[in-house]
Amino acid sequence: MAESVELPGRLGILPFRNKVLLPGAIIRIRCTSPSSVKLVEQELWQREEKGLIGILPVRDAAETAAAVVPMLSQGVGSDSGERSTRVQVGTSDSQRLDVKNQQENIQWHPRGVAARALHLSRGVEKPSGRVTYTVILEGLCRFSVQELSTRGTYYTARISPLEMTKTEMEQVEQDPDFITLSRQFKATAMELISVLEQKQKTGGRTKVLLETVPVHKLADIFVASFEISFEEQLSMLDSVDLKVRLSKATEIVDRHLQSIRVAEKITQKVEGQLSKSQKEFLLRQQMRAIKEELGDNDDDEDDVAALERKMQSAGMPSNIWKHAQRELRRLKKMQPQQPGYNSSRVYLELLADLPWQNASEELELDLKAAKEHLDSDHYGLVKVKQRIIEYLAVRKLKPDARGPVLCFVGPPGVGKTSLASSIAAALGRKFVRISLGGVKDEADIRGHRRTYIGSMPGRLIEGLKRVAVCNPVMLLDEIDKTGVDVRGDPASALLEVLDPEQNRTFNDHYLNVPFDLSKVVFVATANRVQPIPPPLLDRMEVIELPGYTPEEKLKIAMRHLIPRVLDQHGLSSEFLQIPEDMVKLVIQRYTREAGVRNLERNLAALARAAAVRVAEQEQAVPLSKDVHQLGSPLLENRLADADGGEVEMEVIPMSVNNHEISNTFRIASPLVVDEAMLEKVLGPPRFDDKETAERVASPGVSVGLVWTTFGGEVQFVEATAMVGNGELHLTGQLGDVIKESAQIALTWVRARAADLKLAASEDISILEGRDIHIHFPAGAVPKDGPSAGVTLVTALVSLFSQRRVRADTAMTGEITLRGLVLPVGGVKDKILAAHRYGIKRVILPERNLKDLVEVPAAVLANLEVLLAKRMEDVLEQAFEGGCPWRQGSKL
Ligand code: ADP
Repeated sequence: MAESVELPGRLGILPFRNKVLLPGAIIRIRCTSPSSVKLVEQELWQREEKGLIGILPVRDAAETAAAVVPMLSQGVGSDSGERSTRVQVGTSDSQRLDVKNQQENIQWHPRGVAARALHLSRGVEKPSGRVTYTVILEGLCRFSVQELSTRGTYYTARISPLEMTKTEMEQVEQDPDFITLSRQFKATAMELISVLEQKQKTGGRTKVLLETVPVHKLADIFVASFEISFEEQLSMLDSVDLKVRLSKATEIVDRHLQSIRVAEKITQKVEGQLSKSQKEFLLRQQMRAIKEELGDNDDDEDDVAALERKMQSAGMPSNIWKHAQRELRRLKKMQPQQPGYNSSRVYLELLADLPWQNASEELELDLKAAKEHLDSDHYGLVKVKQRIIEYLAVRKLKPDARGPVLCFVGPPGVGKTSLASSIAAALGRKFVRISLGGVKDEADIRGHRRTYIGSMPGRLIEGLKRVAVCNPVMLLDEIDKTGVDVRGDPASALLEVLDPEQNRTFNDHYLNVPFDLSKVVFVATANRVQPIPPPLLDRMEVIELPGYTPEEKLKIAMRHLIPRVLDQHGLSSEFLQIPEDMVKLVIQRYTREAGVRNLERNLAALARAAAVRVAEQEQAVPLSKDVHQLGSPLLENRLADADGGEVEMEVIPMSVNNHEISNTFRIASPLVVDEAMLEKVLGPPRFDDKETAERVASPGVSVGLVWTTFGGEVQFVEATAMVGNGELHLTGQLGDVIKESAQIALTWVRARAADLKLAASEDISILEGRDIHIHFPAGAVPKDGPSAGVTLVTALVSLFSQRRVRADTAMTGEITLRGLVLPVGGVKDKILAAHRYGIKRVILPERNLKDLVEVPAAVLANLEVLLAKRMEDVLEQAFEGGCPWRQGSKL
């Protein structure tokens, strides 16, 4: 340890670049530059007595900009102001030095530390023969530079000591501030030492230092042992005042202590966690060993091994296989109770279950057979079937052809789904239906990311997992019912699905690896075209199925529905017969739909009732030879048990054998459905042809034809007047367009009130003293669209003229303010609806004439279609005996 030293007036100077040697610190340096070698040689090596050199910090010019501590080149140096130093640069030598320094871009600090060599060794570098020195230096005491000059190649400085004299020291030691500060410092230093010793489990050697070394030296020694910034080192060097030095050192030591404490806390935490899971791991290992010893199977292991085998045989592409293996490795490292284990497992199960390569073998497509198949499954629909055959033909010629996606559009129950499944059957592929109705969340299509709790794959991936082949026919059902909301736009995800360029690498968020959808044959269905977003529609070829005429329904029922319904209920025609007349009645009185779904439902109700009826009959059959002859084991057993003549009933699951009931309970003559049975089973008729007549029995009601998701519909419009002040009230869940139509209609009627002879003269308002209320019945159903224009005008004219509208006439058409009748859409559906309602005359906009081509001839034969160009033409046809007020009017 450095004892007090006598400093010479001049010292050889070794510059320390961006570094400070503090008193008490020991440092090992290697001198290689000519100047430092010279310095060591002359000042230390060649001296007999132990020499001293001065270590002076220098700063790179690059650092200068940020320098806070004044440097020598600036000529000023100060600390607390107590011993300010003025550096003289007056000598010519110094001036030169200064210039040179500037060139070298270095700045000298005005204070340094005198150091002595504890050890010196000399070396000669080969092959250059250059001499180098390795010196171990010990910092002794601070000095300040008075003047800097060169001696040969190295610098020397005239210096003055900065450390206190003994008497000064004694004085300071009496200072109460100093005493407090040194106590504080010692306490912090002690704490640090204890922490370090505890950590390193070393003996109390450092503590001895605290007792023996004077506190101001201790401060330097402690600070020298920390890695602190150059600035801080400089400021410590500049702290000549003992109190300043002590408080600085205390601050630095304390900081160091805190950082050790924080680091320790973190380690403890980590260690705590580690040891918990390690403990669990050990226990589990032990448990496993015990189980093995007892011969118990380790289910989890087996499961994971089975999963791995399944994954291996899943045929994943190599990049996905790598990804799956990574996930499997993770799973193997986890404990089953660990969070994330289950989700990881479910995910891997999905990867293993997905049909990466598994495809149903595509049969050589036999178009003739396909056509027969379509024909045998579906009545009518000639054009649609033709289009499907064309589609299949293209696929046959070019299996990877990327034709448009077929989209069947039409009301419910017209056979869209069953056509799609026929396509699958014709192609020999599996069929999967993905219901998109009400899908508003993009995640329904694309899945949720696995980071979400309860995340799942999207419906497409789910569907593929279900069918387990990568080339099914996939029906995107009700594609028009997807909507946009805050959770994204499912339609844009569907766009990617249907785009042949993109669906090769369909990205399900849950799956997180691309899946190739390009082998899937997509078919879509929709009730309406309008809600389908145009870009999506662009990828599809729309095939419309408008609905059936009653005659077609009858044929469908006789040929397809009745056999199917009987079969589904385990019946046959030997057992139940539904005559054509009765089917007609069901169509007329119990259903009023575009498709045949309700018809099928009603027929099913008849079949169910018949099954019960027959079962009851059988129950009442006494033991007879006939029954014995059946030879049904079921019945035989029962009969053997029954000793009184009556047979116990047996509930037979229908799906076991569809023909079981009929076989078991065969009766002499089949049950034939009659009107009485219809009423008993289906209830009183729900619809009749008299409805229209009854509803238009009073003035102010007209019959319109509208278009809904269920196909065409008949829509009544009711208008009434009451005392008021000319206001128009509208009810029936109307949209904006239909409300505006009502305004236009009223305006048109008011403007022509005199011409129509609704008002005596032109200056009398027909609304004088009254309000008008227009209602669209079926108030629960939302309505909109412009095609009710003519119906509204007719209802108003009927109201004001108090003349009834013809009950056999329905109408559709948009009107302009000037009374022109504009064409509307869905004409075919509307005419079919009118036909269903038993309407005989339909008024259509003249420009819709072209649409009549699509209407089945059988329907047109039963209907009179009247074309209107202007509103007056409509009125002419809508009222009995024409429009008498027209004569002589200006209209
Ligand atoms: P959608 O998908 O259009 O709502 P479905 O395909 O489910 O209707 O058809 C409803 C029922 O009607 C099915 O049992 C179907 O077989 C039958 N069906 C519809 N159209 C026909 C038809 N033209 N020929 C035979 N059966 C039909």
